[in-house]
Amino acid sequence: MRVLSVASEAVPLVKTGGLADVVGALPAALAPHGVAITTLLPGYPAVMAGLKRPRVLHAYTSLLGEPARLVAGKLGEQPLVVLDAPGLFDRPGGLYGDALGRDWADNWRRFAALGRAAADLGGGLVKGHAFDLVHAHDWQAAMALAYLRFAPVKGSPPVPTVMTIHNMAFQGYYPGEIFRNLGLPKAAWAIDGVEYHGGVGFLKAGMEAASVITTVSPTYAEEIREAEFGMGLEGLVASRGARVRGIVNGIDTAEWNPATDPHLAATYTARTLARRVANKRALEAEFGLESGDGPLFIVVSRLTWQKGMDVLVEVLDHLVGLGGRLALLGSGDQAIVAGLEAAAGRRPGRIGLRIGYDEGLSHRMQAGGDAILVPSRFEPCGLTQLYALAYGCVPVVARTGGLADTVIDANLAARAARVATGIQFAGVNYQGLAAAISRAIALYGQSDEWQALQRGGMKADFSWHTSGAAYAALYRELTGKA
Ligand code: ADP
Repeated sequence: MRVLSVASEAVPLVKTGGLADVVGALPAALAPHGVAITTLLPGYPAVMAGLKRPRVLHAYTSLLGEPARLVAGKLGEQPLVVLDAPGLFDRPGGLYGDALGRDWADNWRRFAALGRAAADLGGGLVKGHAFDLVHAHDWQAAMALAYLRFAPVKGSPPVPTVMTIHNMAFQGYYPGEIFRNLGLPKAAWAIDGVEYHGGVGFLKAGMEAASVITTVSPTYAEEIREAEFGMGLEGLVASRGARVRGIVNGIDTAEWNPATDPHLAATYTARTLARRVANKRALEAEFGLESGDGPLFIVVSRLTWQKGMDVLVEVLDHLVGLGGRLALLGSGDQAIVAGLEAAAGRRPGRIGLRIGYDEGLSHRMQAGGDAILVPSRFEPCGLTQLYALAYGCVPVVARTGGLADTVIDANLAARAARVATGIQFAGVNYQGLAAAISRAIALYGQSDEWQALQRGGMKADFSWHTSGAAYAALYRELTGKA
């Protein structure tokens, strides 16, 4: 079976969040199930630079007004096709905006072009490259499904499609005037087409067109039926009924394995947990924290409202007051950064900050921290708590989305059965998070109980094994292929 996976980022070439981890991991996760995935990515500078032995598959004189080419290459060991359109993607700055974080004004054209190209490739435009299914990730890829539905390659048979929502908060919503530039027939301007509140909704259009919608955890798949999480699209989600599924993300266990991780001061396994302390000492030194045996909390996160980072700022004095320390790595909202810096200034040696993005450091933190705080207001899946589980860093998480699905709270029953892996709390506010931190610190004081949590997490299997099989089963259901 051949699947075209369309996305705006994928490791190891370009990453701003968990989406890239998942898109980058899918091809290898599906290969054992007899599914060959080709990934289609925009030709950002970092992607073009990573292309080895490129081969041109197709040249457009005008793709939504831009000269462009489809170029074949490799994503790691897996097939990659890049949309090389310099007018759209060859620019300095971020994937979606300039260096100051302002969205590019032509994002609608950039990602409509990605969708048009995906519909062409997925629809069989290039001889010798036929696909049985097209899988679009998030709003940046969603228009692929609208083009397949309303303006497919002439004479091509219909292709089944999957729309995966990695985060409902980002929908790609643009003024109605852009519609005439999309190259879609008038019929697409409809309430069950691309039209959304008088504008064009990219994610909405993809959801309307998809054979099946998936999101990245079963709980989030339920939550987005409600206004609080559906962000305006809850009615559409509810109307798709059983055509909305939740498949939890896996983690790349080659990248994230404390037994072999080259970033660590000391590698370890569940059986050699005592070796972990070398990583804790190294982390304290790296963050300029006082050294000690008390609990060391970590945070690796975008610094945003979604992630509850404003609430984190409020509880820092409580955390330090109970004998805790914090090492935080992240970037994002200026107001949150300012709050964190003020708290670190009040508590030197107890709160260490690294504002920025650092992959290697994120590994060292999971290996050296005692517990990770993930107080998200909503969390489609979340990867940092999965990495933490694998590294024996106990997750303290809000009970929402994928966090609810992947962490087993250390309540009495779960502890007695030796299945607990972390701490869940309800209510992303001062009381909720402060109480969770108090619970964590109390449990940390009972070292047998704490080690049972660590070992429970390290035993849990969040590799792609199960989730790869779930995607393969979905693809088979939609294509009718074995
Ligand atoms: P989201 O995709 O919503 O940001 P996830 O938990 O799904 O949240 O994925 C976040 C990914 O980005 C994880 O791989 C995490 O380790 C990584 N990450 C987030 N912030 C940083 C940072 N400042 N430095 C390094 N890695 C980071």
